[in-house]
Amino acid sequence: MSNFRVIVTDDRHGEYSIEKDILKECGAELEIFDCRTEAEVLDACSGADGVLLNLAPMSKDVIKKLDTVRVISRYGVGYDNVDPAACTERGIYLSNVPDYCFEDVSDLAVAHIFSSLRQLSHRDRMIRNGEWNIGRKNNTRIRGKVLAIIGYGRSGRCLHRKMSAMGLSRVLVYDPYVHEEEIRINQGEPADFSTAVTEADIISIHVPLSTETLGLFSEKEFRMMKPGAIIINTSRGGIIEHQSLVEALTQNRIAFAGLDTHHIEPLPADDPLLQLSNCVLSDHCGYNTVEGFVELKSKAAKNIVKVLTGGVPDYWLNPF
Ligand code: NAD
Repeated sequence: MSNFRVIVTDDRHGEYSIEKDILKECGAELEIFDCRTEAEVLDACSGADGVLLNLAPMSKDVIKKLDTVRVISRYGVGYDNVDPAACTERGIYLSNVPDYCFEDVSDLAVAHIFSSLRQLSHRDRMIRNGEWNIGRKNNTRIRGKVLAIIGYGRSGRCLHRKMSAMGLSRVLVYDPYVHEEEIRINQGEPADFSTAVTEADIISIHVPLSTETLGLFSEKEFRMMKPGAIIINTSRGGIIEHQSLVEALTQNRIAFAGLDTHHIEPLPADDPLLQLSNCVLSDHCGYNTVEGFVELKSKAAKNIVKVLTGGVPDYWLNPF
C-alpha cells in the first residue's frame, strides 16, 4: 500500500524509472496519464497528492477544484500552462526546474557558432550532392573575433566560460539586469545594446522572450551589424523579427545565422530560411541531451518528494 499517489498528467517521456525510484523514498507510487483537456486533467488529478506536469492545461478552473493535490512540479523552465496565483490560493506548492539544461543550451550555441564560421551544414549538403572544393567565401577563424552575449544568465555565462579558451579579442555582454562587476570578474566587457550589436562579429542571444525582448533584433539591428556578422539564437524565435532576418541573410548583409528556436515551430515547409545556405537550423533541441533529461526528471521528482515529506520544493515558484 503506497503512502501517496503521484501522477504524470501528460506523457511525453515514455519512460519513468528515474521518477519512480526517487518517489519510492517517500512511498509514493506513480501513475501516467496522457491528458489533453482540462476535464481529463481534473479526472487524472482526483485523489492525487503530487502532480508532475508537462504541457497539459493546469488552469485556474482546474486548480480551484484540486482537493487533494499538495504540489505541482512542472517539468522544465517555463510554466505558462499553470496559474501560479490559483495554486497559491489553494496552498498548492508550484515548482519548476530552471537549471537542468544551461550546459546543453550553451553547448549547442558553441556548435552553432563553429558550424556558422565554417558553414558545416552547407558543406555537408553539397558533398552529399556530389560537390567538392566548395569554396572559401566567408570562412573565418574564431581567434581575434568579438563575441557579444545578449543576456548574462545561466546559459549566457556558461557560453562565456566555454568560449574563453578560443582566443576571442573581446567578449561584450549586454544585460542591464546584471551588475557590471559580475561581468568584469569573468573578463567580459559590459556593453550597451547598440555597442554590442555594432561591434560584434558573433552575437549569441540568451534572454527570455518578454514584452521587452520580442523583436529585439529587427531591421534596424540587422542594418547596424557588421557585414560579416553571425547571429546565434538558442533562446526563443520571437526575439528575432523573422522577415528582417530573412532579408538580411538573403541580401548577405550579415554572413550567417545559427538558429535553434524559430518564429513558428516546427518551421513551415515554405519558410524562406529553408532555401538559404547561409543559416544552420536545429529543431529547438538545445535542452535535449541524455544528461539534461536525467537531471530534469530527477529534479522534478525531488520537488514532489520534498513537499510530501514536509518540506518545500528546491525550486519553489509561489512562496506563501
Ligand atoms: P536565465 O534566466 O538564467 O538568464 C536570462 C538572462 O537574461 C538574465 O540574466 C536576465 O537578466 C537577462 N535579461 C532578461 N531580460 C533582458 C533584456 N531585456 N535585455 C537583456 N538581458 C535580459 O535563462 P537561461 O537559462 O540563460 O535561458 C535563456 C533563455 O533560453 C530562456 O529564457 C529560454 O527562453 C531559452 N531556452 C532555450 C532552450 C532550448 O532548448 N533552446 C532551453 C532552455 C531555455
